[in-house]
Amino acid sequence: MKQDQLKTYREMRDFNRTTEPSGGAPKRERGKNPRFVIHKHSSKNQHYDLRLEVDGVLKSWAVPKGPSLNPRDKRLAMPTEDHPLEYAEFEGVIPPGEYGAGAVIVWDFGTYANITRKVGKILSMDEAQKDGHISFQLQGEKLRGGFALTRTSTGKDERWILVKKNDQEVDLDTDILRVEPYSALTGRTVEELTREARGGGRRRPQE
Ligand code: MN
Repeated sequence: MKQDQLKTYREMRDFNRTTEPSGGAPKRERGKNPRFVIHKHSSKNQHYDLRLEVDGVLKSWAVPKGPSLNPRDKRLAMPTEDHPLEYAEFEGVIPPGEYGAGAVIVWDFGTYANITRKVGKILSMDEAQKDGHISFQLQGEKLRGGFALTRTSTGKDERWILVKKNDQEVDLDTDILRVEPYSALTGRTVEELTREARGGGRRRPQE
């Protein structure tokens, strides 16, 4: 049942404590391009979360080193639980003691196109995910062009790698994560969000 797609997500969180969305039933936005979002998540181990809209939920991978514009960089991507579509706009600080405690910003967002092919035929996202190879084209605020996710191991320790495809959006000289640390939604950094949550607001000059 599709309704159960968010069961794991909900079971992992206490919505009386976290400001993350609990999410309704998976929503299908027919006729629109599917969305993608990359969160920067300053939890115990800082990482990026790549999320692709598929069948009304956000399929998710935690990418410890984040995306790269260099096709030679193979970035580990570990699948995590499906998130509700509403999560695409989520920014905030998950309180201490809660799952994923720490600041989350929308590092990039936009739409994507599935361009996965197998023997000349376009696979659906569902088929591509099962097959272990997803090719997609991003139209984001920061990231553009082709990327590929490829599964390298299955089972409990399932792992994928995220790689930039070779196209005109390749940039060997720019560390996009360093150059663009800001939220694509609000312009804030995870450090600023963390300070705000501590009650300090923006740091003021000393009196
Ligand atoms: Mn995360």
